[in-house]
Amino acid sequence: MTDLLYKRDSAWLKLSEEEKDQVFSLADAYKLFLDVGKTERESADEIKKQAEQNGYVSIESVLSGGQAFKPGLKVYAQNKGKSIILIVVGKENISSGMNIVGGHIDSPRLDLKQVPFYEDSDIAMLKTHYYGGIKKYQWASLPLALHGIVMTKDNKKVNIVIGEDETDPVFFISDLLPHLAKDQMQKKASEFIEGEDLNLIIGNIPSENEDSKEKVKENVLKLINEKYGITEKDFLTAELEVVPAGKARDVGIDRSMISAYGHDDRVCSYAGMRSIFEVNNPTLTAVGMFMDKEEVGSNGNTGSNSMYFENIIAELINLQEDNYSDLYVRRSFMNSKVLSADVNAAYDPNFKSAYDKPNTGLMGYGLQVTKYTGSRGKSSCNDANAEFLSEVRNIFESNGVVWQTGELGKVDQGGGGTIAYILANYGAEVVDCGVPMLSMHAPYELLSKVDLFMAYKGYKSFLNR
Ligand code: MN
Ligand code: MN
Repeated sequence: MTDLLYKRDSAWLKLSEEEKDQVFSLADAYKLFLDVGKTERESADEIKKQAEQNGYVSIESVLSGGQAFKPGLKVYAQNKGKSIILIVVGKENISSGMNIVGGHIDSPRLDLKQVPFYEDSDIAMLKTHYYGGIKKYQWASLPLALHGIVMTKDNKKVNIVIGEDETDPVFFISDLLPHLAKDQMQKKASEFIEGEDLNLIIGNIPSENEDSKEKVKENVLKLINEKYGITEKDFLTAELEVVPAGKARDVGIDRSMISAYGHDDRVCSYAGMRSIFEVNNPTLTAVGMFMDKEEVGSNGNTGSNSMYFENIIAELINLQEDNYSDLYVRRSFMNSKVLSADVNAAYDPNFKSAYDKPNTGLMGYGLQVTKYTGSRGKSSCNDANAEFLSEVRNIFESNGVVWQTGELGKVDQGGGGTIAYILANYGAEVVDCGVPMLSMHAPYELLSKVDLFMAYKGYKSFLNR
């Protein structure tokens, strides 16, 4: 019996000649997607743009009767600019259930506080409040960029991106030189740089205004005002995010990997977007979800815990059924099957003790299926049903998807969660399934191109099942 023992193999060794080229061309397109989408707003806009190029129409145009509602129709629903859902209407009614791939497009970062400006010792700085799970010390001594919007008192929206163009200035958070770090080096890593010390350096030239008490801050605000027409008070009504500056890069002599900011979870979102673009006239309605706020618990009206998705589905069911009933919506969710498309930790040879290797995803070994997440004895996890796992396995294997299983670290090492439990609460079958990666939640994360390819291939086969 050749199949008696389970053995994983590198996905790189299982590619056809044609697929070898596809791995690299998909990765090149993904890098461009990363470079134009470093925040949830930018990513949602890019997904909307590509959806329109692929024949999707807005939910608004459908609900106003401007588009005939029929099987095969491709619809996008963007929620407050920060999350977006793509839907391909199936031949069967939506109440028969949907095939859903759901990822998120927010990533760990530093947000500006609402009153961010101050100066100290002739250095102008911006105060930040970190968003999501980060190792704070990793954000010092890096070139940083500022992305987001500022609302003016006239209710105008000013878009800001500083630090991404080669000619742009970048920003910086200081760290203490090793020569003077005797006390700092004794601290725990979590206290190495404190949250209130993540202050962004943005200027050093004082204004010539003799009366000013904060000359450097005033000069910086003058330059900002000249360029954007905004004042310090306008920052009270702003959403500005600090992210690592620069583009996604190939890693390795063999160019097998990509390092970038925000792979979590733009990689599964990108794979999900590309895969739903290849769904035409499906039997069951296909859905790609690209959600906000996952890194802070999925709350808020753009997160997965909001009613938004349910409301959109209710609207479509109302167009589809002669006599709308809430029961159709409930049945739709109850009958749905979901791949919660999120990244997971890959086995790191530098930190062996954090993992149980056979139960951890390996870089380059394909799409990683995670039956459960959670912490301290699977607490708060979605634990996928074996029957559904078997269904997913069969879909993957009959479509040549190289896949593996993997949990998030060894028992009691820590843990985490995804959006999986949210749709499971409706009664849908859900399993976590995404790209394994190294240095997750660091300013630059690392993944293998073949794992991105297998995610795309896996999601595509699932949405077309
Ligand atoms: Mn994630
Ligand atoms: Mn995350």
